[in-house]
Amino acid sequence: MVEKGRLYVVSGPSGVGKNTVIDKAIAGRDDICFSTSVTTRKPREGEIDGEDYFFVDRETFDKMVRDGELLEHATYVSNGYGTPKAFVEEKISQGMSVISDIDVQGGRQIKAATDYSVLIFIVTPTMDELRKRLEARGTETEESIRSRLERAKAEYAESIDYDYIIVNDDLDTAAEEMKAIFTAEKCRYKNREFYLKEV
Ligand code: 5GP
Repeated sequence: MVEKGRLYVVSGPSGVGKNTVIDKAIAGRDDICFSTSVTTRKPREGEIDGEDYFFVDRETFDKMVRDGELLEHATYVSNGYGTPKAFVEEKISQGMSVISDIDVQGGRQIKAATDYSVLIFIVTPTMDELRKRLEARGTETEESIRSRLERAKAEYAESIDYDYIIVNDDLDTAAEEMKAIFTAEKCRYKNREFYLKEV
């Protein structure tokens, strides 16, 4: 028997710093890997295909949905986003954990469809701080910032099924909180019950 892997779904408003927290929390670990999502959104400057996202056109995305290749998918500010299924299932069955940056619609689909997911929601200390972070990114138009802030409010309301909340005020603290979640989930009774069977 092996301790099973988990799918850590990390959600929270765009601009909250999800990927920065994830990168810091999983750095140097070989038991958790990042799941790269598929999106129809255009790459931002500096984003790499196959690393930040698999960037695909709408036709390819729709075909992946039809062929059942995505564990979940959602529309966010008129673009499609989804999680490739085969990658996640392979890692989990090998005892590895997978972490993914997914919006709340996708998170809820995953919770309903799997028994190995853990849902983490990341927030900024205030909405004003979120606006500042989106502006500082310098890649969004005023219109896009407005719709992302609107969307953030809706996501807060929809996150009630989530298991944990991390407040990303200080990056080191946020990453420590995420690592504590990994440890707690690993030690869950259900995950380690098989050790008792030898008695
Ligand atoms: P961005 O365009 O800022 O990279 O991401 C926009 C939103 O899409 C974020 O809230 C992010 O969590 C979400 N997202 C990224 N990948 C996926 C995915 O595979 N599935 C779903 N449902 N949402 C995703």
